[in-house]
Amino acid sequence: MNKLSERDQRYLWHPLTQHKTHAGMLAITSAKGVYLKSEDGSSYIDAIASWYTCMYGHCNEFIIDRVHDQMRQLDQVVFSGFTHQPAVELAESLAKVLPGNQQKFFFSDNGSTSVEVAIKMAIQYHFNKGEKRNVLLALEEGFHGDTFGAMSVSGLSVYNGAFEDFFIKVIRLPRPTAENIEDLLKKGAELLEENAIAGFIYEPLVQGAAGMKFINAGQQDRLLELMRNYGVLTIADEVMTGFGKTGTNFATDQMSHQPDLMCLSKALTAGLLPMGLTTSTQEIFDAFYSEEISKGFFHGHTYTANPLACTAASAALELLSSDKIQQDIRRINQMHADFDARMKNHPNVGNSRYIGVIYALDLAVPMERYGKLRDTLYGKFMDKGVFLRPLGNTIYILPPYIITDDQLNKVYQSIEEVIDSI
Ligand SMILES: *Cc1c(COP(=O)(O)O)cnc(C)c1O
Repeated sequence: MNKLSERDQRYLWHPLTQHKTHAGMLAITSAKGVYLKSEDGSSYIDAIASWYTCMYGHCNEFIIDRVHDQMRQLDQVVFSGFTHQPAVELAESLAKVLPGNQQKFFFSDNGSTSVEVAIKMAIQYHFNKGEKRNVLLALEEGFHGDTFGAMSVSGLSVYNGAFEDFFIKVIRLPRPTAENIEDLLKKGAELLEENAIAGFIYEPLVQGAAGMKFINAGQQDRLLELMRNYGVLTIADEVMTGFGKTGTNFATDQMSHQPDLMCLSKALTAGLLPMGLTTSTQEIFDAFYSEEISKGFFHGHTYTANPLACTAASAALELLSSDKIQQDIRRINQMHADFDARMKNHPNVGNSRYIGVIYALDLAVPMERYGKLRDTLYGKFMDKGVFLRPLGNTIYILPPYIITDDQLNKVYQSIEEVIDSI
């Protein structure tokens, strides 16, 4: 029998891939804790927790046992007209950790759909109140997913050229910084006067796909205040930042303005099953609550609130709130601080930064997002047994919370070696 990596090529079409220039896929046969194991027997430290999902380690026994029990009880049922214990219990647990104004929880399948739902809710909220608002505000370089609405509010990318004619109407603002904030607020106010803006979507504190770019909480807050003054709904996309990554349960917890809507996915189910969640305030829910059927929110996915995914999410929340994981988050943050003190003056390092368990540094060399140099870096890390996916010239770490000191030191060492070598 041929190897999986060869059999793969007959039928499979991979995401975000130009197959002509990137032929071979590495076959992963198992995963445990921070390790991925490949078909040829090599092990890799998953230093980005498989796109920020498996934060409690791969194949976590505690979560698996819970889901396994649930599987024998109730596997899947329509969530329109029915409800079930895993959804009700997850909602009760979420209400304890989410910002206090988040009161209603709508499930879907992934991060992009959680964003689609938020956009549709924001537009219909105004529509139900008799106001036509048809423009969204977003930040340049933001990333919110690959479905049409989510793609439209994301930063303009050369990879989306074919679709631009079909985007929903979006106005983009630059990321707030100490230098531009006053101008930005002025420009924002003008835009808000001139356009019928329904909502403002943003990644709080960290723009992930942009290359782990940080936003100061105070400046973000001022932008949110401006939106509030114009009755614009604010949508915090915490698909990446949610569930402890920035040191608090949600990045939003570090700001004084709470958003009207929140989007969650990725670590929600600890990487075991796909699920998206859009949360809203009572006030938004109330704008849909009516004798008129058409004022309801007629959006639904077949797997909405899948009982197994809900069970995985409840188990993950229990772990997140444990003393052990909260200590791990502080421990990793302290290790990042020590690592950063070593790295920040390196001649090949431009800007470097960390928050919670996220660490990022920009190489002082320009690079294309999916270009050759970036691929070389990726290969060098894999050769050292570390899975990292540099974004252009940004190398970042977002490890599972359960990574040990020795394992994290190995990740740091691989970065130092690779940076010394360029
Ligand atoms: C990954 C991501 C999304 C999209 O989630 P998918 O599950 O990949 O559709 C949306 N927003 C942010 C901030 C993300 O990091």
